[in-house]
Amino acid sequence: MNIAPQLGLGLVVALALAFLTRARPREQELPTMTEARWSEPRKLSAAHPELRPKLVRILGQLRAEGWPAKLFYTYRSPTTQAGLVAAGTGARQSKHTATNAAGQPAARAADIVHATDGWEGPQAAPFFARLGELAEAEGLRWGGRWRNPYDPAHVELPGA
Ligand SMILES: [Zn+2]
Repeated sequence: MNIAPQLGLGLVVALALAFLTRARPREQELPTMTEARWSEPRKLSAAHPELRPKLVRILGQLRAEGWPAKLFYTYRSPTTQAGLVAAGTGARQSKHTATNAAGQPAARAADIVHATDGWEGPQAAPFFARLGELAEAEGLRWGGRWRNPYDPAHVELPGA
């Protein structure tokens, strides 16, 4: 019996599955992440004045509960943002790039991850669940409620 057709079909299915389940590059893996290397105080100072105290409270509460929370991004330059979009991370037009009237960073969004498990390690899911609770209690929008893209590290001020 000729099994070539079955092998061909199997290959097509395997390729389709590999395509559908392929891991997207994550933000921490990308070279264009200048602002991700800023110190936490600098990241906080680059956040919008309404967002900053909320981030301080959320980070403080997570750490008080024993979670190794890492503030990954607040502000991202347009160059960094464009690099993330080009790399296919799912990053979109973003509140991370917001500036104030003087043109200085005033990010309306932040990404907070588990310091060792990042976005996808075993502790990431329970960490993000708690992050979402705390963020919503602060009146922030939480990207863990989104599906395109699902973005559980992301919190942002409501409004424009
Ligand atoms: Zn984000």
